[in-house]
Amino acid sequence: MQTFSGVGVAPGRVLGPVRQMPKPVQEPRENVNIPADVTAESQGQRIKDAAKAVQAELRARAATASGEGKEVLEATALMAADPMLVKSAIRLLSPEAPGGARTAERAIWEAAATVADSLKALGGYMAERVADVLDVRARIVSELRGLPAPGIPASDVPFILAAEDLAPADTATLDPAKVIALITSSGGPQSHTAILARALGLPAIVAAPGVDEIGDGTEVYLDGAAGTIMVDPGEELRLAAKAWATQASTVAAFSGSNVMADGFRVPLLANVGTGADAVKAADAGAEGVGLLRTEFCFLDRDDEPTVEEQIAAYGAVFAAFPGKKVVVRTLDAGADKPLPFLTNADEPNPALGVRGYRTDLTSPGVLERQLAAIAAAEAANQAEVWVMAPMISTAEEAAHFATLCSAAGLKTPGVMVEVPSAALTAASVLREVSFASLGTNDLTQYAMAADRQLGPLATLNDPWQPAVLQLVKLTADGAAAASSGGNLRPVGVCGEAAADPALAVVLVGLGVATLSMSARALAAVSAVLATVTVAQAQQLATTALSAPSASAARQAVRAQLPILDELGL
Ligand code: PEP
Ligand code: MG
Repeated sequence: MQTFSGVGVAPGRVLGPVRQMPKPVQEPRENVNIPADVTAESQGQRIKDAAKAVQAELRARAATASGEGKEVLEATALMAADPMLVKSAIRLLSPEAPGGARTAERAIWEAAATVADSLKALGGYMAERVADVLDVRARIVSELRGLPAPGIPASDVPFILAAEDLAPADTATLDPAKVIALITSSGGPQSHTAILARALGLPAIVAAPGVDEIGDGTEVYLDGAAGTIMVDPGEELRLAAKAWATQASTVAAFSGSNVMADGFRVPLLANVGTGADAVKAADAGAEGVGLLRTEFCFLDRDDEPTVEEQIAAYGAVFAAFPGKKVVVRTLDAGADKPLPFLTNADEPNPALGVRGYRTDLTSPGVLERQLAAIAAAEAANQAEVWVMAPMISTAEEAAHFATLCSAAGLKTPGVMVEVPSAALTAASVLREVSFASLGTNDLTQYAMAADRQLGPLATLNDPWQPAVLQLVKLTADGAAAASSGGNLRPVGVCGEAAADPALAVVLVGLGVATLSMSARALAAVSAVLATVTVAQAQQLATTALSAPSASAARQAVRAQLPILDELGL
């Protein structure tokens, strides 16, 4: 049986046919010699037919989609129907066009670029349509080339989505009723594919070389905890998948209040990106929001959102959690989450560049306006709002952020601890602010000097690495040292580590007070924490810290938590 192995990032055992995510569309070449028998008329007809076919396909998909996915598909179908785009492409087929005649592919490529530029120049709502135009362009070019349409493939039957990696933009059209698991050849445990899989509750394996070459329709079995994929599985694995489905449905829903075996409370919060996420998280019983990724509200924006737009976006999240804690993170632009109005696309090392809190150096005023918007949204709602800055490296930065929060009238300033220097100097950093939240995704990549998006480095990029656990412990110890009298400085975790039920136990044992994760993970994490006392968690933390490797730490801890096997986690 052909086997692929990678890093399991979301547990689950499933079996189904593979569908490949088509490769990104390459730009058609310029100055291609057009054979004399290819007329502008015949090329024009090809463009018209391709645009029509794309429009029909998008309409058909929109008809069966729902929610945000339906809206995206409908908007894109409208754009494909735009006669202006086709007309301007047809003009470029003529030998009289400036620069001479283009091929059909090149003509639609350039015509769409011109439309995109003018929409961008108009700004606001129009600029937000740029992504739709570029998507339509890629679809028409694929149609002209006879290749599958870009984006998540359409299918009548549930399938396992295989890709090199997935981008945040792919998520809107991913239908969890159709996609039953994700496998990628690239990406790491903290990549967007992994985050998305956990948010949707889909079993997933990343960094499995070769899976992006498995033929469409091939049946595979995958084990998301073990990180293995088997091609053409037999009856035994079919039964294993069936057994897992039955087992998984026995994890009770989260009760809304997480209590350990000795009665100790560790609030379980949710990571959200939008108001819609927040509503789902509240429905799933989240005790609050531990991370509002504000940049997710504005990923498609070329210009800074207005204060009013920001008040609306944050207010939608606060409204879902009246009387509950909501930790808002200020814009974390940069690296894998560029925002054109804050970050410079030409930086040689974006992960080490002007990102997160550091953009205050190059774009002064944006942070103050964001804090003002958060304060206004807080005033209009009942949530208990805490605010933290991403990518804080020094106590001075923490102090400056606290001053800005105070000037905006925000009472609970905090920092993300995701840069090793902040963990190493946690006591001084936490003397400047009220709380910290460990971003284990970035903390791992910086501690191990391993880009979180790179598949080949996935073993280094593992929050079970004892070096990363040491940094978590240093942060919790530093916060305890900085806490004086009744002035406690709680430390939470909002990185993906909190969603791994076994690692969650270790984090609590290291002194972490709250855990924040995608809403889907709440029930499983709570079910496992309910079986251990704080003393046992501390014991398991010691075991993990002294392990010689990440895999040894994981194995040693998992062996002491029989509930994981019982629940198929
Ligand atoms: C982190 O780095 O762990 C984190 C929570 O932030 P993000 O994944 O958005 O970088
Ligand atoms: Mg981070």
